[in-house]
Amino acid sequence: RAKAEGRGRWTLFDPQRNARSVSRYAVSVRMPAALDRGEFFIDYQPLCRLDDGSLSSVEALVRWRHPQLGVLGPDEFIGTAEETGLIMPLGRWVLEQACGQAADWVRRFGDRAPHINVNLAVRQVRNTGLVQDIDRILRSTGLEPKRLQLEITESAVVGPEDESLRALNSLVDMGVSLAIDDFGTGWSNLAYLRDLPVSGLKIAGSFVSDLRDSGREQVLGWRIVGGLVSLAHTLGLTVTAEGVENEDHAERLRSMGCDRAQGWYFGRPVRPEEIVKMITEESGRGER
Ligand code: C2E
Ligand code: MG
Ligand code: MG
Ligand code: MG
Repeated sequence: RAKAEGRGRWTLFDPQRNARSVSRYAVSVRMPAALDRGEFFIDYQPLCRLDDGSLSSVEALVRWRHPQLGVLGPDEFIGTAEETGLIMPLGRWVLEQACGQAADWVRRFGDRAPHINVNLAVRQVRNTGLVQDIDRILRSTGLEPKRLQLEITESAVVGPEDESLRALNSLVDMGVSLAIDDFGTGWSNLAYLRDLPVSGLKIAGSFVSDLRDSGREQVLGWRIVGGLVSLAHTLGLTVTAEGVENEDHAERLRSMGCDRAQGWYFGRPVRPEEIVKMITEESGRGER
């Protein structure tokens, strides 16, 4: 049941979330108007290449500036948005904003502009209008399809109906790419890797950022990460590690041949102006 309803559910067991669940009502009541009132905004987090440290893409991460509760992270409202159906207009809004932002960077910085990664909720993947929506958004923003990567979770692709599979194939035919997000945390068998046109895997942040302690657990943890990197490469997929919090993480991943990394060590989710600074600083160094 939890799986079918998407990831928002897991956080119900988070004590911090429980403390705030009084506000769950406030969240669901306020949300529909919040989109019209412009209360949502998007931060962008860098995805960097591990071989030369250059900025490869940025992931769009939605936030909600709630007038009473302050800034809420997606884990506090995406689940409710999925349940109420608001995820459909909200998801389209995120795609429009993110593709518009990425296209703007291309106009300003040409090939030095990062690609853009956007998360899709399970419900969006199941929605029949998805391909049309994305086609329209790419045309209206002028973003080249190859610059857009959609992140879907294992729960979205477990036993996808023929229709979702057709939609995902159409998107890839358009030139958009797909990555599996939070790889390794689902319960699925891995058959979908054979059936779906994905080109990337993102190893769930918990695999890397939880590896604080030394000893057996850490040794095994890194072996699992190494195995996931090998699996991805055997299948011809680009692999990105999430939750990369320090230099040691980055160095180990680089030595394993992991392609890209995302995490606090390379940069937290930030306002678009901060990404512009990264782009200009990088070209100042004359790299890539
Ligand atoms: P995700 O797609 O796996 O995004 C990565 C999450 O890990 C982000 O949390 C990011 O802030 C966090 N993170 C990044 N680097 C580190 C690190 O080094 N250490 C740790 N501990 N965490 C790190 P955030 O922004 O709270 O987003 C949570 C989830 O909400 C996302 O997980 C994604 O599944 C979902 N989400 C965000 N934006 C959207 C959206 O526009 N649509 C949909 N459907 N889901 C979204
Ligand atoms: Mg993601
Ligand atoms: Mg992820
Ligand atoms: Mg996540």
